[in-house]
Amino acid sequence: ALRQAKALTDSVCPYCGVGCQVRIHVHAGRVLRTEGLDGPSNRRRLCVKGRFGLDYVHHPERLTRPLVRLPDAPKDPDRLDGARTWFREADWDEALARAAGGLAALRARHGGGALAGFGSAKGSNEEAYLFQKLVRLGFGSHNVDHCTRLCHASSVAALLEGIGSGAVSNQIEEVLESEVLFLIGANPAANHPVAATFLRNAARAGATLIVADPRRTPLARDARLVLQFRPGSDVALLDALLHVIIHEEDLVDHDFVRARVDGFEALAAAVAPCTPERMAALCDVPADTLRAVARTYARARRAMILWGMGVSQHTHGTDNVRALIALALVTGQIGRRGTGLHPLRGQNNVQGASDAGLIPMMLPGYAPVADAEARVRFERLWGARLAAEPGLTVVEILDAAARGEIRGMYIVGENPAMSDPNLAHAREGLARLDHLVVQDLFLTETAALADVVLPASAHLEKLGSYTNTDRRVQLGRPALPLPGEARQDLWIITEMGRRLGLPWTHRGAAEVYDEMRAAIPALAGIPWRRLEREGAVTYPCPREDHPGHGVLFADGFPLPGGRARLVPATHRGPAEPPDRAYPWTLLTGRLLEHWHTGAMTRRAAVLDALEPEPVAFLHPEDLAALGLAPGAAVTVATRRGRVTARARPDPGLRRGEIFMPFCYREAAANLLTLDALDPWGRIPEFKCCAAALAPA
Ligand code: SF4
Repeated sequence: ALRQAKALTDSVCPYCGVGCQVRIHVHAGRVLRTEGLDGPSNRRRLCVKGRFGLDYVHHPERLTRPLVRLPDAPKDPDRLDGARTWFREADWDEALARAAGGLAALRARHGGGALAGFGSAKGSNEEAYLFQKLVRLGFGSHNVDHCTRLCHASSVAALLEGIGSGAVSNQIEEVLESEVLFLIGANPAANHPVAATFLRNAARAGATLIVADPRRTPLARDARLVLQFRPGSDVALLDALLHVIIHEEDLVDHDFVRARVDGFEALAAAVAPCTPERMAALCDVPADTLRAVARTYARARRAMILWGMGVSQHTHGTDNVRALIALALVTGQIGRRGTGLHPLRGQNNVQGASDAGLIPMMLPGYAPVADAEARVRFERLWGARLAAEPGLTVVEILDAAARGEIRGMYIVGENPAMSDPNLAHAREGLARLDHLVVQDLFLTETAALADVVLPASAHLEKLGSYTNTDRRVQLGRPALPLPGEARQDLWIITEMGRRLGLPWTHRGAAEVYDEMRAAIPALAGIPWRRLEREGAVTYPCPREDHPGHGVLFADGFPLPGGRARLVPATHRGPAEPPDRAYPWTLLTGRLLEHWHTGAMTRRAAVLDALEPEPVAFLHPEDLAALGLAPGAAVTVATRRGRVTARARPDPGLRRGEIFMPFCYREAAANLLTLDALDPWGRIPEFKCCAAALAPA
């Protein structure tokens, strides 16, 4: 019926973590148009991706039959464009038998530690839950991770340590009640565009917006204070603010700290030397501006901090977030509406995938793998033994693959052959695997290196729940039929599990959700039928008649004694600062029109027409100094690789800096990036490395 009908379906957008609710207009099995619904996170608004970015599902390159690699086909990371000829079509029985059989053989020969799985922050909560369970029980290790490791892993590490919860403390809509908004290392106008409209409206209604970023981003136009700091100097900047608040002007909320916070003396001692004058030399922001920001934030009745990957994607990402947490705690700016800490989540379901346990050191609901009691609880729930050692993370898994220690992988909906840092090394790891199974919509750069490719379901073709940046669990509903012989991801994961020896009989999303809800106490008050009825419910939600807690920590923190923990951070700077051979600083990120590795948006007709080719943004004076006109071809090189793109002037950059999006396969920016890791969050330093630049 879906193939013929003219139909309207209410669902959620498949792109960013804002989680806009959207009505899909479908005719004869194709998306005609979309409109924004009055969802709690979007209030009828959609950005260009939600409006014009959904036709990727109909793209002619969509996989509609399973593929298996031909016996003598190469696995050549340098020739990915010709990859379709390396495969033949197969039926599902053969493909699943080969896919699961190859993994089972490696498990028998080398043990479960030789296998790993990447799930997806674009899949539903139910898919994430089932996939992590497959790896933990079917492979027998905790080597399961997803793109949160490349996104907010450092934020989550610092938040769990400092305030006992890795999710946002307050929701976006509350910015309209804040007096001050401190936005750092985030470009919501491109990456969370509808959230950006809430911030802009708040600023225009009188809130003081402070924007701190090495690149002057569009929201700076609405800001009262703009701090364009040196890349990698975040801790120096934030320690200067803490110094002013604690040592110069005593803007500390002493009652709040006494009642709720540990570690104040150690923090005060650590930031004592961090005078604005000393830190100004490191972060390149005038001392008086640092003082003005500290006063403005600390004196506000309600101030919220929001950040993005400009903060988290550093070798000191966890330290950056520790310093942000300290700002909120010492000033008592948390636990009330319009205050708090909001790490803007990237993908539509990166929050939910993490909650569901798609991470190597945590079971569902953030129960630590290393905690024997937590393991016993899940062993009872799942009726099987669990390994005691936490697993490897994304970059560590591909490192281990390159060394020949990880021999088999199952990757669902992730594209590490485009998204990982130091891509040549990551692709070498994927190509070296004895057996790689990829489940996806297209023959992505990662799928090109697979032994078996399983054609999956797109967001608009399935039923499932998704959790947005605001901790809202929302229902995605199917608007389209599956093309050809593509199958539901839940069905594929279940079949793979059965062939790996798991006695699984799951019958759809609602049943998997119910099991997941039993494992995650925060979802207690959100049964499936409530999601069907209400469409969106905030967690933690203790009872079915409870609206869910939009504001966290009103009554203390989920840590011993209900007290938060301050952890001092010291400026270390970037792992690879510019030098004589590589004098430029390369920053990477996203464009408004393209999402992550481009697998979807580059196959969306309007979005690809808007931004069709690789670009490198440079300060106009740098372009002029090189004698280049806008649009000239430039080669950007680092110690790891080189790519060619068209130069585009951006006066928002500081001189000597290059910004490149990582969505273009023909000029993959991650061939250039550095795989040095943050020691706590294990996140790579995407946001800063040394580069050389020359006319192509
Ligand atoms: Fe989709 Fe995010 Fe745009 Fe909303 S803001 S339409 S969720 S991409």
